[in-house]
Amino acid sequence: RHYTKQDIYRLVEEEDVEFIRLQFTDIFGNLKNVAVTTSQLGKVLDNECMFDGSSIEGYARIEESDMYLYPELDTFEIFPWRPQQGKVARFLCDVYKPDGTPFEGDPRNILKKVVKEAEQLGYTFDVGPECEFFLFDLKENGEPTNSSKERGGYFDVGPLDSGENARREMVLTLEDMGFEIESSHHEVAPAQHEIDFKYDDAVKTADNIMTFRMAVRTIAKRHGLHATFMPKPKYGINGSGMHINMSIKKDGKNIFDNPEGKLGLSEDAYHFIAGLMKHMEGITAITNPIVNSYKRLVPGYEAPVYIAWSATSRSPLIRIPSSRGINTRVELRSPDPAANPYLALAVCLAAGLDGIKNKLTPPESVDKNIVAMTKEEMEQCGIKYLPANLKEATIALEQNEFIKNVLGNYIFTKYVQAKKEEWNQYIIQVSQWEIDQYLHRI
Ligand code: ADP
Ligand code: MG
Ligand code: MG
Ligand code: MG
Ligand code: MG
Repeated sequence: RHYTKQDIYRLVEEEDVEFIRLQFTDIFGNLKNVAVTTSQLGKVLDNECMFDGSSIEGYARIEESDMYLYPELDTFEIFPWRPQQGKVARFLCDVYKPDGTPFEGDPRNILKKVVKEAEQLGYTFDVGPECEFFLFDLKENGEPTNSSKERGGYFDVGPLDSGENARREMVLTLEDMGFEIESSHHEVAPAQHEIDFKYDDAVKTADNIMTFRMAVRTIAKRHGLHATFMPKPKYGINGSGMHINMSIKKDGKNIFDNPEGKLGLSEDAYHFIAGLMKHMEGITAITNPIVNSYKRLVPGYEAPVYIAWSATSRSPLIRIPSSRGINTRVELRSPDPAANPYLALAVCLAAGLDGIKNKLTPPESVDKNIVAMTKEEMEQCGIKYLPANLKEATIALEQNEFIKNVLGNYIFTKYVQAKKEEWNQYIIQVSQWEIDQYLHRI
């Protein structure tokens, strides 16, 4: 959908929109917004809306506290869950500095930079995410829990799947908002769900992920449930991932596809895989951003643990799904839905592009179950582990000059500092597990 300013004026008038939310995303992937009434529409469309950035996490530098929001017209959307009179609409915005240049701390701007670099080679990035989440019960006082009475499993249907009604309304709402939903199903764990929407160019997909999370949370609440994208909300059951499917188009053709190539893949596909693998340790702090992310990346719960790729196994870090032609793609299975989608796509795509530009060669694929391999076999195949926790991941990020360049100094510095603080806070806590293990024994 493409909108002109005139379209927006007309829509606001015809649809009786009363409030407009100017949304943007902070470094850590939180959606923020400034609300104005439609009396301000002229200002909004002339990029004149301002906010004080000093109170936003990761934006706090006093001398740069005045930020301008430039709305992306095509992201105009009227919230379908809001009243039908005095409607509420939103734009996703880019954040600009008073001197008219893009703000270095705006993650959307970082992704746009990577996309532009690809455009110079005639490439368009296509990305399709698979977002998993849990629908948990609320306490009587409305506080979220991490439990559910629901006992459904993979692809189950109602009445076992009591989240089904909520999920159906999520799908219908998202379709109202212009999403093309490809599938939705109950996931493996009780109360866990997945909704897949169609791939699109990278910026559009990152925007879609932000909209998706907002819509899913909102609809869950209306059903008396709490939607959470926390990667591992419960010990002992599968966590929630956000697999990222990536491909590149040139002149309308998928450049990863080559019927004559080995496995039906082009040389560029292999280079892309190699680039991803080269930078994997450095990008993990972005794709798996919180302490809890690493409780998902453990053996036994369908999440990847080792840095390897395969076109036949379903469980490796990097998987090449069997579809070819326009659907030929590289699937990265480590990212989780706590990630900032703009930064996560920026670092993954930049890493793959680095592989293409430098014609990197990936290691041999590993098509057997790595979990069943001995340590010697793993060493022989040169298989490394993903970072085991946020500390290791942050150190690996700090050491990766290439990824530092992609993120830019501003975000890189703020991000690394925040993640170190997060880890230091976490590691001094005394957990329930420790109390249970030690209190009466020692
Ligand atoms: P899985 O088999 O891993 O469960 P899904 O069917 O759940 O995969 O999701 C596949 C995702 O890949 C969807 O979002 C789909 O739109 C996306 N996809 C399909 N073709 C491409 C492509 N060429 N480039 C990027 N993403 C794609
Ligand atoms: Mg899936
Ligand atoms: Mg599927
Ligand atoms: Mg899934
Ligand atoms: Mg998948």
